[in-house]
Amino acid sequence: MNLTYILNQLGEDRHAYFNAASPPVIQTSNFVFNTVAQMQQAFTDEKKYRLYTRGNNPTTEMLCKKIAALQGTEDCLVLSSGAAAISVAVLSQLKAGDHVICVEHPYNWAYQLFTAFLPRYGVTTTFVNGSDLKNFENALQPNTRLIYLESPTTMFFELQDLEAVCQLAKQKNILTIIDNSYCSPVGQHPEKYGVDLIIHSATKYINGHSDVVAGIICGSHAMIEKIYKNEFLNFGAISSPLNSWLMLRSLRTLPLRLKQSSESAQKIISFLAAHPKVERIYYPFHPSHPQYELAKKQMLMPMGMFSVVLKTSDRNTVVNFCETLKYFLMAVSWGGHESLIIPACAFADDSGYPVGFIRFYIGLEEADVLIGDLDNALKLI
Ligand SMILES: *Cc1c(COP(=O)(O)O)cnc(C)c1O
Repeated sequence: MNLTYILNQLGEDRHAYFNAASPPVIQTSNFVFNTVAQMQQAFTDEKKYRLYTRGNNPTTEMLCKKIAALQGTEDCLVLSSGAAAISVAVLSQLKAGDHVICVEHPYNWAYQLFTAFLPRYGVTTTFVNGSDLKNFENALQPNTRLIYLESPTTMFFELQDLEAVCQLAKQKNILTIIDNSYCSPVGQHPEKYGVDLIIHSATKYINGHSDVVAGIICGSHAMIEKIYKNEFLNFGAISSPLNSWLMLRSLRTLPLRLKQSSESAQKIISFLAAHPKVERIYYPFHPSHPQYELAKKQMLMPMGMFSVVLKTSDRNTVVNFCETLKYFLMAVSWGGHESLIIPACAFADDSGYPVGFIRFYIGLEEADVLIGDLDNALKLI
């Protein structure tokens, strides 16, 4: 992958906009025609010829070219959120009577889609522990149409063997979709193993500045074209031109941001793993992870998010720890410039998490500053 070409050249048309280094935001809802013939042509294929921004906008189109190239798929769609990307991709492949196999602990709104929404339309789902291929085999039904993956998941960081699952799916003529948000389009290539559709919450690493909510679906020309003509145009969950432009701006620094987040996370994990007040670490690239070898095989780099369990069963101690941290902000989401925590003790009482469970995302601050902050707060335990 030639990152320099993709990030600085691909899709750019600088002579068309005054040789500006940075492209314009084409903030328009529609496009005008000089002749009836041109308008007629646009009606025949609105993805190719511009007609209306719900279908196609040049700023979003430039972003699509770059993200499809980064992920290594033929095409992609940009949507208004990661949740929209999940719903559109999943709904595009199912009809009443179909069965889905989904990994345990997927992103919450994927779980809601499978458990609360799809049953209304006669689609059933079996959740399996994705660490063992046998669990997928055992869950197969004659009407299984889709296997939904998230590798790794983003609370417990469980992986699935993408090569093995895809092999099984192809044998049985079952489609595969993966939520690849954790790794970004740079850190994992599920398309190489044959995953059919790859989803990203672009809110996270892709945009990376905590100022845009967006989603991506990557796949073959044929699959993306079909989704485009049906669910995409029908649901209308598009990215605004300004949000697409902000993501184009963000892509310029994606590799640098990933590198910083990853390197700092590893320093911080080394510190935490050696700390007597830390009971457990959930991180694919830590040797204590049961799928460490698989992580090294199918992920291209260690990423910047992990969970820990602090050595305490006292909720107040965890609350004090979280509220003492100065540089880790308490918030949902991740992938931006700022380091974040989500303590499980903020969830409903019956969530089933250990009291000391905290998810960490490592942003772009100096690792030493973050370690100092942790060291100080850990003294409370
Ligand atoms: C945040 C997130 C989503 C949902 O994305 P939104 O842009 O917030 O709708 C999906 N999957 C994962 C793994 C996420 O972290």
